[in-house]
Order: sequence, then C-alpha cells, then structure tokens
Amino acid sequence: MNKRSSHHAYLVRVQDIIDLSPNLRRLVLHSDELADYPYQFNGAHIKIFLARHGQTMPQLPQFSGHGFNWAEPDNKPIVRTYTIRDYDAKACTISIDFVKHGNSAPASAFAEQAQPGDMLGISSPGGPNPMLKMAVRYLFAGDITALPAIESLLATIQTDACGDVVLLLPQIEDLPATLSLPAGMRLHTFYGDLSLVPALVKLVSTFAPLTCDDFAWIAGEATLVKPLRELLRTQWQLPPLRHYAVPYWRQGENEESYHAARHNFIEK
Ligand SMILES: Cc1cc2nc3c(=O)[nH]c(=O)nc-3n(C[C@H](O)[C@H](O)[C@H](O)COP(=O)(O)OP(=O)(O)OC[C@H]3O[C@@H](n4cnc5c(N)ncnc54)[C@H](O)[C@@H]3O)c2cc1C
Repeated sequence: MNKRSSHHAYLVRVQDIIDLSPNLRRLVLHSDELADYPYQFNGAHIKIFLARHGQTMPQLPQFSGHGFNWAEPDNKPIVRTYTIRDYDAKACTISIDFVKHGNSAPASAFAEQAQPGDMLGISSPGGPNPMLKMAVRYLFAGDITALPAIESLLATIQTDACGDVVLLLPQIEDLPATLSLPAGMRLHTFYGDLSLVPALVKLVSTFAPLTCDDFAWIAGEATLVKPLRELLRTQWQLPPLRHYAVPYWRQGENEESYHAARHNFIEK
C-alpha cells in the first residue's frame, strides 16, 4: 500500500482509553486512513490538533514548505506536540500517552475527559530521524512527559548497551511495570515534583562523562533539561550531534507562550 506524503493531517477518533498509572493516560486513536500512515518509529514527535470550545471537530491544516496553512485562519485548532507510543497498521490505530496535569490545560483536559468517539487531528511523524545515534553508552533523563519516548527508545537499543536512565516521576506508581532495560543499564528514580531537579542534576554530574562514542537523550520540564544540557556541553564537552536535549514544557507557561523560547533554546 502507498504511504501518504510525510506532511498530512488525519482526523481520528478516540477508540480506547487506558489508565496506565495515576498520572498517565493512553488514548488509542483510530481512523481507517491510518492504514497508510507514514510511521517511522515509536518515540517520534507528533502534533495533535484539538477542537476549540463549542466545536466537536478541529480544523485540520494543509502543509506548505513553511509549515501549516489554514483555510480559516481565525478558526485554528489548539496545537500541541506529543510522542507516538505505538502504531498498529492492521488495526489503523496510533497510541499517545498523555500526562494528566489538570482540566484547565487543553490537551490534558482532552485526555482527562476523553470519551470513545471524541475527535481530534494528528499529524504525520516529526522530529529527528533517527532519534538515537548508535552508541557504546547511553544516558536517558527525563520527567513523566518524556517517559513515553524513553520507554519506546529503550526498546530499540542493542541488548549489550550500557549506561543510565534517570527518571523524575510524580509518584512510584507512575513507573511502568513493563519498563525493560538492557542488563548493562542502571535505573535511577526520583519521585516527586520539580524541587527534586537539583538532586537529579547532582546525581548525573557524578556519572563518568559521556564521550563522542556515547549518546544522551534528555527531555522534560525546562529547568530539568537546561542544567543537564549545560553539563553535557560544557563540562563533558559532548558535541551537539551526540545528544538530544529538548525542553518539552515550562512550568507556568502554556505551549503558545513557550513555543518560540523552546525553539530558541534548541537552536543555540
Ligand atoms: C517533542 C515533544 C514531545 C512530547 N511528548 C509528550 C507526551 O508523549 N506526553 C505528554 O504528556 N506530554 C508530552 N509533551 C509535553 C506536552 O506537549 C506539554 O506538556 C504541553 O504543554 C501540554 O499541553 P496542555 O494543553 O496540557 O498544557 P498547556 O496549555 O501547554 O499549559 C497549561 C499549563 O500547564 C502547565 N503544564 C504543561 N505541561 C505540564 C505537565 N506535563 N505537568 C504539569 N504542568 C504542565 C504549563 O506550564 C501551563 O502552566 C511533549 C512535548 C514535546 C515538545
């Protein structure tokens, strides 16, 4: 079957709702159109398009070389970025794991209130491809928003990989029972809020520095990502090609207000 172009938006319906943990909810999204979704790998970025208040269905964008084009610019949906957690071509489904962080935030509220049949839009995959470089040693670090990607990526690395996985999760029940690490990798967990970031950064700073044969993957709230990227680049002298360090959100700012600052940070 022909795969669609890599820039396309799909109208999908919530098919299943699975509570993975107290703070993480999986939505399984279905559309017959997903049979030829240009899937790359679990852990890739994906845009979601949410209907505005009073609508049942979001407007979907057309794509140009410069990003989204809107037929009705005054009626744009709410746009957020998430992670592809699973794709099933036969079942025509894509799964996304949403952090439930309150009903006043549009994407979180959508997930918390989701009912089978609810509609949203999704994009084709985005982000670096491949996301990971082959490495002797890996460092993964992130909060619960990064957990869907970390779990996905850990499932793809070689069984003799070594390194460290450092997670900041709201509570112990958010650690997936299915999380599987190669025998040579160590898991370090912090349970609580962002006040634990300094302790987490301190722990990572005690690890042997990564070298050009290694790879670091870091994502989560901005105050977690920033000092870790600083450590990688300044103290460990790790070149940008050997790490992914993306602030997924910033406390106190919604996606609309934080989007440009994230891109400035990534491009620095
Ligand atoms: C590449 C990429 C991949 C991502 N993948 C995932 C994913 O798979 N799952 C996932 O849940 N998130 C993921 N995120 C993060 C997600 O896009 C943000 O958390 C986003 O802000 C959520 O939108 P919202 O409408 O719920 O909140 P917004 O309207 O953006 O924010 C409203 C308020 O909530 C706060 N807020 C936002 N996110 C959180 C949070 N997680 N915890 C507590 N407060 C928060 C904001 O600071 C703001 O004060 C990803 C982000 C990026 C860039």
